[in-house]
Amino acid sequence: MNLRPEEITGIIKNRIRNFNSKAEHSEVGTVVTIGDGISRIYGLDNCMSGELLKFDNGVYAMAMNLEENFVAAVMLGDDSEIREGDTVRSTGSVVSVPVGEEVLGRVVNALGQPIDGKGEIYASERSPIERPAYGIIARKSVSRPLQTGIKAIDSMVPIGRGQRELIIGDRQTGKTAIALDTIINQHDKNVLCVYVAIGQKSSTVANVVETLRQNDALHYTVVVAASASELAPLQYIAPYTGVSIAEYFLRQGKDVLCVYDDLSKHAVAYRTLSLLLKRPPGREAYPGDVFYLHSRLLERACCLSEDYGGGSITALPVIETQAGDVSAYIPTNVISITDGQVFLETDLFNAGIRPAVNPGISVSRVGGAAQIKAMKKVAGSLKLTYSQYRELQSFSQFGSDLDKDTKDRLALGERVVEVLKQNRNSPVDVADQVMIIYAVNHGFLDEVELAKVSEYESELRSYASDNKPEISEKIHSTGALDEETENSLKELLEEFTKRFLNK
Ligand code: ATP
Ligand code: MG
Repeated sequence: MNLRPEEITGIIKNRIRNFNSKAEHSEVGTVVTIGDGISRIYGLDNCMSGELLKFDNGVYAMAMNLEENFVAAVMLGDDSEIREGDTVRSTGSVVSVPVGEEVLGRVVNALGQPIDGKGEIYASERSPIERPAYGIIARKSVSRPLQTGIKAIDSMVPIGRGQRELIIGDRQTGKTAIALDTIINQHDKNVLCVYVAIGQKSSTVANVVETLRQNDALHYTVVVAASASELAPLQYIAPYTGVSIAEYFLRQGKDVLCVYDDLSKHAVAYRTLSLLLKRPPGREAYPGDVFYLHSRLLERACCLSEDYGGGSITALPVIETQAGDVSAYIPTNVISITDGQVFLETDLFNAGIRPAVNPGISVSRVGGAAQIKAMKKVAGSLKLTYSQYRELQSFSQFGSDLDKDTKDRLALGERVVEVLKQNRNSPVDVADQVMIIYAVNHGFLDEVELAKVSEYESELRSYASDNKPEISEKIHSTGALDEETENSLKELLEEFTKRFLNK
């Protein structure tokens, strides 16, 4: 193609003549102030809320406050090179992250960039981090179980796919351990997992990744990490990034589990950001929309009807309390948004009862519908036995001579507590859970010494799989404990208990 010089100058002159200063003006702004991770920018007339802005040196920011003359943006990268008067360009799109199969097995930061040193992620799709949750037409009620593999939870506070169950407790009570065990237990359950670490130490996050890798759970998990040293805006967007990644799989009709560890630190990051943006502080200096912060996140968990693919997102948010105070601001907010909570207690944890689930105030408002029939049958009375035991225990400390009935109840309660103890990283199959809970409920453990309960359990597991594998198969295939299976389970337990006691 031959272009003559006159033509080229003609084109350029034409461009200059038609140069629309208004349109250009709205695309480029100027930094007025910068500091504390907040920048005020003049001149971005058509800026959207949540829009990604790019500075001259390649650093990004997100527009948060659209004021009359300024846009206040939070920095998503290092602001040390930025000076007053620098130009800022709006990108025309809101903050989005790469999503897709390629992200599985990777550790990414809040912007979806890999931080595990395994190279670039070439994802085919990007998804905005903020999206409206599915409406009521698309949803159906929770009906399928999400097995955590933790006896105390699967039996007493069952979780269903699509449910939002809060894990709440003081620091160092095993909150993360419960979330990780649940992820590890999904290895053969066709559930993909997203673990979002917010405001934690980098070493803790590294440990989590290592635990997942060792237990062969990393290849179906995405870890989104915004550790304590990262900027508050990154900690703020991290859970939304996580759920956007999960929603990609949801759209494929898959089941996803999302863990947000933890939302107390998320609220603190948002408070920092809001105060720096000069939004008015409310109770405990949190901004007025701190409830909406978590409700819009947790509303994105859902169980979709078949017409919409039938996938689900189960959310396990974590909240850290101070001295067991569940009535503080953020805990009460999140309790009211979720469909129940698993409450972990320091006293129990220190007494060696781990996981330290307190069944008295732990509830699952919708999970019962999703529990398999066999478990419902054997675990129905468990919570009651447990709480009766707790009550008797405190009462019996005062009296010395107890009647036989009280003694029996105490002995049973002690065995129930012992059975529900479980080490971390060792999820138990649901059929095995049914067997041991059946055993303790029907008095098979009455003669067994307390210290030998865990030995009994592990030996029973191998004895059952060697001698009567059909019980476990039946429970798995039908989900129920019919009369025939129950009789054969009873037989098995009688045989085994006799052998165990005569050893
Ligand atoms: P933080 O508040 O620091 O996040 P956390 O509540 O998440 O703590 P974890 O880190 O899960 O608690 O657990 C605290 C400690 O307790 C860890 O050292 C962990 O190994 C131990 N632990 C947790 N669960 C169990 C368990 N079931 N059996 C034995 N040890 C456990
Ligand atoms: Mg933790």
